[in-house]
Parts: sequence; C-alpha cells; structure tokens
Amino acid sequence: MSGRTKATKLSREERVSNFDEIQKTFTPIQATIEASRCLMCEDPPCNKGCPAGIDIRSFVRKIRFNNLWGGVRVLREANAFSGACARVCPTDALCEELCRSTVLTEPINIGALQRFLTDFDRDQGGRARSQVPACDRKVAVVGGGPAGLAAAKELATSGYSATVFEALPQLGGAMTSAIPSFKLPQDVVETEIDLIRETGVQFKLDSPLSDGRTLDDLFDQGYEAVFVAVGLQRPFCLGLEGEDLEGVYSAVDLLAQVNGLQPSKEVKVGRNVVVIGGGSVAMTVACSALRVGSERTTVVCLEAPDEMPAFAEDVELAWEEGVEFLTRARPLRFLNDGKSNVAGVEGVRIKWKEPGKFVPENALNVEGSGFTLPCDTVIVAIGQGPDDNAIKQFEGLETNVRGYLLVDEQTLMTSRPGVFAGGDILHNPISRTVVQAVAYGKQAARSIHEYLNQTDE
Ligand SMILES: Cc1cc2nc3c(=O)[nH]c(=O)nc-3n(C[C@H](O)[C@H](O)[C@H](O)COP(=O)(O)OP(=O)(O)OC[C@H]3O[C@@H](n4cnc5c(N)ncnc54)[C@H](O)[C@@H]3O)c2cc1C
Ligand code: SF4
Repeated sequence: MSGRTKATKLSREERVSNFDEIQKTFTPIQATIEASRCLMCEDPPCNKGCPAGIDIRSFVRKIRFNNLWGGVRVLREANAFSGACARVCPTDALCEELCRSTVLTEPINIGALQRFLTDFDRDQGGRARSQVPACDRKVAVVGGGPAGLAAAKELATSGYSATVFEALPQLGGAMTSAIPSFKLPQDVVETEIDLIRETGVQFKLDSPLSDGRTLDDLFDQGYEAVFVAVGLQRPFCLGLEGEDLEGVYSAVDLLAQVNGLQPSKEVKVGRNVVVIGGGSVAMTVACSALRVGSERTTVVCLEAPDEMPAFAEDVELAWEEGVEFLTRARPLRFLNDGKSNVAGVEGVRIKWKEPGKFVPENALNVEGSGFTLPCDTVIVAIGQGPDDNAIKQFEGLETNVRGYLLVDEQTLMTSRPGVFAGGDILHNPISRTVVQAVAYGKQAARSIHEYLNQTDE
C-alpha cells in the first residue's frame, strides 16, 4: 500500500514573515492518488469520526472517479463549513483517527481531500444552490459563529424563516475573530457564509441579545423558537501580581488585532514574548507573535509536551516555527521594569500530585526550581468563559455556577421551552471545535423542527 500524500507546506522562512496560509491545496493528481488509497470500507469507520456527519467514503469515491461537483454536494449538504473544517479540524483525533484503525499503514488524508473539493468549488465561484421557499414560521438564532450559522442554514433549507442576531459587525464567530489566516483564510469563511445567505437566512449585525433585546422580545416579535449560540467571549485571567502591567495582553486581543478587528486593548508585540498556556490557542498565539515581530517566543505551560491539551498538529507547527517551550512550569508573578512595563516572568517548575490529572489544582511547586524569564510582552492564553453580560441576558435560563448553559443532551432545549442552545457556551460540550459547533447547530435545527411540529399537534 503506497504512503499517504501530504499537502505541500510553506517553509519556516516563508511562513514567519507573513500570515499566508501554511498548507497548499492538493493538485488534481495528488487528490486522485490519495483518494485511490481509500479501501471503500463496507461500514466506513471514518464516517463515525466526523461530528458533522459527512459521508467521507462517498466524497472520496467521487474524487476518485472525477465527479468533483458530486463530491462538493456531499460536503456542502452535511457541513456548512466544510472548507473551514478541512483546515482546522483536529483530523488525527476525529475522522482520520478511525481510518487509522483499518489495515492502511497511514490514514487517508481526509482533511486535504475535503479541502481540495471545497477549494475547487470556491475557485469555480460556487454553484447556485436550490432555495426552499421560506414559510412564515420564524426562528431566531442568537450568535453568528459556526454553531448559529449551521443551525440557521439547516432551518432555512427545511423551509423556516431563520434570522441570525449577531452582536458584532461581522459574522463567523471565532473563525473570523480568533483563528488567524495562516490557518484559516478569511475568504474561505466568507464564501461559506455567502452560501448560507443564498439559502435565504437573514442576518442582523450589531444586534446583540442584550438589556435592550431580550428573549421575551424575540418571542413577542413572532419568533417561535430561539437557538442561543453565543460562544465564550470573556478571556480568563491568571489573577497574578503584575498582570495589569503594560505589555501584558490576552490572547483574544492579539488574535482580534491580527485578524484586522478592533481589540479591547491595542496590542504592541515586542521582541521577547512569553505566552502562558498549553492549549491550541496558546500555540496559535505564539505563531502569530512570531509573525508580528517577536524574535523570541517562549510558551510557558503546566503540562509536559505529551500532556498539553493543544492539538498535536498545532504543537508541531509552533515547534517547526522556532517557538521555545518551558513545560511543567507555572508563572508566579510578572516583573516590572521599574516603571509600568512588564520586564519578566517569575515562575517555578511543577510536578503532578496525582499522575495523569493535568489541572492547575493538581500541580505542586518543586522546591528550589524558581526561574525568571526576561521579556517585554506577555500573552495570557488560558482559555475563555461565558461573558458576564450574556449571563444576565439569559436570565431565567438554567446555567451552572460559572455561567455555562445547561441543556437536555438529546434535544439541546434549555430550561425554557422553545429556547435551545449549543456550541461552546454549553456546560459540557463534547469538544470545543468548529466541527462540533456545526454538529450542535444541526442537532438544534432538528430539535427545533420537532418541537415546532409537536406544538402544532
Ligand atoms: C484562537 C482560537 C483558535 C481556535 N482554533 C481552532 C482550530 O484550529 N480548530 C477548531 O476546530 N476549533 C478551533 N477553535 C475553537 C472554535 O473556533 C470554537 O469551538 C467555535 O468557533 C465555537 O463556535 P460557537 O458558534 O459556539 O461560538 P463562537 O465561534 O464564539 O461564535 C459565537 C458568536 O456569538 C456572538 N455573540 C456573543 N454574544 C452575543 C449576544 N449577546 N448576542 C448576539 N451575538 C452574540 C459572538 O460575537 C460570536 O460571533 C479555536 C478557537 C480560538 C479562540
Ligand atoms: S469535517 Fe472534519 S471531522 Fe468531519 S470529515 Fe471533514 S475533516 Fe474530518
């Protein structure tokens, strides 16, 4: 069996001076060769690894037999963001992980084949999709990220009049505001949003659900059901001494700025950057810092390399680009330069009290292992939580103590009948990824359809 075909990547030197996409799309020959490796399993395991329910065997087969439009149709019907997912899905933990369990030595490069088809569609200008005439039953979607947009598309193609209320002036959620273009170019997201627009979905931008527009208002305006998909907008802080110094920023602000959006605080990246965190966001931030002028970027995180929560591919990219790592370490305070600017990170190495439990509460400082890392910029990338304002807006909906929404796992209905929720804002999502958000959007649309039909009876 021949080996896996890999997409060409830009070299380190080509990458770190700009935000150009790192991976190139397959050529038609590469795509055909890779599709021809597929064993066309009777009960394809890869399909079970795709949260969005893409029939992978079917689109790979269509590439093999040069039915590219047929393949595009399979993808677009199952996943409104199949071009974005082709680039950002942690495939080695999803579809390709299950493909690995077959007799193939290496799994089929599903992400790259999916990208080949969606790029083909985009480059051909997309084909007009059939529109379903909207009925007069109105459904509101709050939040225009992948969960909200995927739900709106499903609802519109099932004949509902779906309106998305988005707080910001642009759609796309974290795909637009946080994932930089070296991973996900904006035109890919824009093309997919345009396809959703073609289905008849209405968009209301700069329209937050807020004190001025409540869930009650939406029902009063004739919306019969609401899907809440507001994501996580509040960056977590460490709560350490010196965190308010000049030069200490949140990941969200740096990423908004590199994506051309307005950060809450203007970020000035210096030459010597420390990134705190071991997740994929921290890796993305570290690679972004290199692209905006940092000469040395060091990731400081609690976990050892094989314990980090980041997707393996993101760690590899950061490593390849020259990011340095100080692992099993935690910051204790940020030092100043005698004025109000950050000048260093003081920290300590850690070990785990209980093996295999990689959470801050389980970390034990190792005596005598203190260190000081001089730096001029610190970026805190330790995750996000629900926006305090959002919690007030959803007054009446049941949340956990930290403000994440609680839903029925089967229906995604919240504690209020007719109000559904999905995506990152859930208390216990299966995972916080774009493809999982799409899956929640599809699940919510199905439940809303059933709910509205039940309420008719
Ligand atoms: C830096 C970064 C890198 C990531 N990298 C990857 C990756 O490589 N692969 C991957 O699969 N996933 C990645 N993710 C995770 C992924 O982007 C999220 O899991 C996904 O976007 C969640 O979708 P969502 O629709 O639930 O929320 P979001 O994408 O956050 O969208 C929520 C939307 O709701 C809007 N909103 C908020 N409050 C209101 C309100 N009151 N009224 C109206 N609108 C409101 C927001 O403005 C936003 O547009 C990354 C995330 C980040 C932050
Ligand atoms: S959407 Fe993601 S998980 Fe699903 S088949 Fe495509 S790359 Fe795999």
